[in-house]
Amino acid sequence: MIFSPLPGTPTVTQGFGQNKEIYQQYGYLGHNGFDFGCPEGTKVFAPHDGVCTVKDDGATGYGKYVVIDGPTRRSLLGHCSQITVKNGQSVSQGDPVALSGKTGSSTGPHLHWTFKILKNGVVQNKNNGFDGAMDCSEVTRLWQQQNVHQHAQYTDAAKPYLSMTFQPNQIIKNTTGA
Ligand SMILES: [Zn+2]
Repeated sequence: MIFSPLPGTPTVTQGFGQNKEIYQQYGYLGHNGFDFGCPEGTKVFAPHDGVCTVKDDGATGYGKYVVIDGPTRRSLLGHCSQITVKNGQSVSQGDPVALSGKTGSSTGPHLHWTFKILKNGVVQNKNNGFDGAMDCSEVTRLWQQQNVHQHAQYTDAAKPYLSMTFQPNQIIKNTTGA
């Protein structure tokens, strides 16, 4: 199971697949992740285990962001005010990795989260209209009443995702948006 990068009951200000008209310029069918409205400086946690890559787009793109690559999954956490892990650092699920902000192309303080499935280091479902990004709300531990702690139990809803049995060209159906 993956965690929401924000504990508690974070407000989703833009869901996956929304606002097609804005995102078609990037070649996407809609928003390629989740946006959470949160005050600048909110602590951001690793949705899953992985190795961190720290990046900075400056005033454009995702601004200050961190990419976390695990064996089977990748998360990008964008528009941060500060990345609190080092480049190449290994983190466990639930570890703090950043402070949220409004860096890069952002109209206000929020956290952007893109989630992709990896297989042998390669993003799967690249042709799904979102460059492989997927709506992970179905396999994410419930936003509500979420406690951040490591090594959570998996639930039945996560089994198809965790089995990694889909074909290379198979499109995982997005449950919202396009
Ligand atoms: Zn976003």
